[in-house]
Amino acid sequence: MSLRFDAIKALTDESHAKMGGSATKISAIFGENVFTLDKARSFLSDEAYKSLLSSTKSGKKIERTLANQIAIGLRAWAESKGVTHYTHWFQPLTGTTAEKHDSFFTLKSDGTPIEEFDGATLIQQEPDASSFPNGGIRATFEARGYTAWDPSSPAFIFEADAGRTLCIPTVFVSYTGESLDYKAPLIKALEAIGKAAVDVANLFDKNISKVTPTLGWEQEYFVIDEALANARPDLVQAGRTVFGAAPAKGQQLEDHYFGAIPERVYAFMRDFENESYKLGIPLRTRHNEVAPSQFEAAPIFEEVNIAVDHNILLMDVMSRVAKRHKLKVLLHEKPFAGINGSGKHNNWSLATDTGINLLAPGKTPKTNLLFLTFFVNIIKAVHEHADILRASIASASNDHRLGANEAPPAIISVFIGDYLTKVLGDIEKRVGDKFDEQDEAILKLDLHKSIPELLLDNTDRNRTSPFAFTGNKFEFRAVGSSANCANAMITLNTIVADSLTKFKAEVDELISKGSKKEIAVMQTIQKYIVESKTVLFEGDGYSFEWEKEAEKRGLPNVKTTPLALDALSTDKAKKLFEDFNVYSHRELEARHEIELENYLKKVQIEGRIMGDLAINHILPVAINYQNKLVSNVKSLKELGLPETTYAAQLDLLKKVSEHIQVIYNKVHEMVEARKVANNIENTRTRAIAYDSQVKAKYFDDIRYHVDKLEQLVDNETWTLPKYREMLLLR
Ligand code: ADP
Ligand code: MG
Repeated sequence: MSLRFDAIKALTDESHAKMGGSATKISAIFGENVFTLDKARSFLSDEAYKSLLSSTKSGKKIERTLANQIAIGLRAWAESKGVTHYTHWFQPLTGTTAEKHDSFFTLKSDGTPIEEFDGATLIQQEPDASSFPNGGIRATFEARGYTAWDPSSPAFIFEADAGRTLCIPTVFVSYTGESLDYKAPLIKALEAIGKAAVDVANLFDKNISKVTPTLGWEQEYFVIDEALANARPDLVQAGRTVFGAAPAKGQQLEDHYFGAIPERVYAFMRDFENESYKLGIPLRTRHNEVAPSQFEAAPIFEEVNIAVDHNILLMDVMSRVAKRHKLKVLLHEKPFAGINGSGKHNNWSLATDTGINLLAPGKTPKTNLLFLTFFVNIIKAVHEHADILRASIASASNDHRLGANEAPPAIISVFIGDYLTKVLGDIEKRVGDKFDEQDEAILKLDLHKSIPELLLDNTDRNRTSPFAFTGNKFEFRAVGSSANCANAMITLNTIVADSLTKFKAEVDELISKGSKKEIAVMQTIQKYIVESKTVLFEGDGYSFEWEKEAEKRGLPNVKTTPLALDALSTDKAKKLFEDFNVYSHRELEARHEIELENYLKKVQIEGRIMGDLAINHILPVAINYQNKLVSNVKSLKELGLPETTYAAQLDLLKKVSEHIQVIYNKVHEMVEARKVANNIENTRTRAIAYDSQVKAKYFDDIRYHVDKLEQLVDNETWTLPKYREMLLLR
């Protein structure tokens, strides 16, 4: 029997792990495995605690002697929870996390075994980094890279079935100081926006001394039976199915969305949620998504750096916990063709240390102006840097969603709702050169009157926009489900920092020429509205009309990753990232190179999987069936029966044979096309060739014929689990 039928049989035979969450209150276990400031308080000396605290709050450097004390406290805490090993936990550009475990255990010079963990080891490690993607940085500079402790994200204990490890969040940089991960540039981008936002906020309120960007992600994912998944080499190796005919029942009945969560999945959710709570991940929401077997998890929002760590940690936890339930989590953006893919909405806002959400419309005319300033600056940033924002979400897997009529399109536009559209329209019309104090006072009051309606307006949200204002935050919806949010967050926070910095300079300039502050602000807001209004779009983002309209407006619509990534090599991008010290030219070039390579390697792997499956799995089964038909027709003919008795068999035979020939020929041609692409020296040209000459030319075509065979060939002999089985059986 094939793996396929074994898996299906096991589904009905076995009773799967039903353990879910325990009945204890979440608050009782929340953060149990995190070295929170509370725990630091009881494990550290006053001096060490204070040093850790100020480093957490303001990024202040920790002295070596204090680092030693912190390391000792950290080890004591970890050992009290049965931990024997530690690791520097970091986020290389492969998209997952990396760790190398070392034990606390060591031998003294006289051979006495002891447990040890000192400040130097806490602060810095030199993992053998030569095999992480580096875009050539280490080839030209130094072969070494190192990880450095990020005290702003707390250490935690990761519990695997095999044991517990103390994880220390770190940045990963080359020996010459170039960043090789997502965290280092993210921290820099957050610093940049923090500073720019405080400067602008101080125009209105001098009490604000810190602005912190916040992120609440919504993680979509599929979860299917593990044995069925394991019987699909494409899912195992590429995270998506390269073949598979659409099931009779897909998502057309819309009976899955917000429906009752299936029991087995529910137990899995409770289980991974529990693990997440212990790690301090504040999960809040769980529900079914649109496609069968698709679900979503969302937390309470947090500071961006922590939220990013928590998301990547959650993805890891989910995948591991799924194994206990004999389930497989699919984080790929498009594991199954023909039904919805998965995204990761990034809800984003700015919070002040005075307790204000800068994207929540204010209660007074004055705070409304504060809100409008930030609101318009964000729109301006997205308009000016739509290309870079698009590049930040580009990946081989996300290409299956963007512009594919079910996810936000590849065109970056901003949705703001009717009332804010009207508010911006009013400002645009009424603020001009002759705008005086009285006009300003009246306008402010008028705007204030329309803003309370906002809440109402936003209950009716436009789900087709890639970047939508949803009442008190922006929601960047084009981020892919498998992505590290950091990539999108680095870009978004940098471009808004850019906009705010320029805004402040323009307002200051007007003030220095004698304008009153409020008027200077209004006039600059008005100017920004005029400059960026083409990016605003309220209609159906999935429609063809929008594509045409966007083209007229001059908005970029880049559908494939290799071309979308061009935005990283422009002078504009180099200046932007360098101005804010997020990436040097060299780092940006390296990122570009790495992303192109990631892209083409993924397409290359998929091409190989397709060839392999087609030749080793599909054709043998089809040829067997062909043989059956041949002998059947032959026998009927030999018996002297009229052709009408085997016309159907002949027809089937003809069709099956045709598909076999086409698949064989196309696979061969695809291999040749890959060879041609592989010989291209330039990475960008090679990536474009992989997209246009390999993927676009052959993937859908080969798939079409394989899927036809699936529908013709004897079901009993088909080896790959079918869509209906993976999506509907549990
Ligand atoms: P939905 O978009 O599905 O209707 P919600 O609007 O309730 O759901 O929230 C979705 C996400 O937005 C949650 O993860 C939540 O934490 C996050 N969120 C809410 N307010 C903010 C904020 N000020 N900053 C960042 N994220 C936020
Ligand atoms: Mg949402």
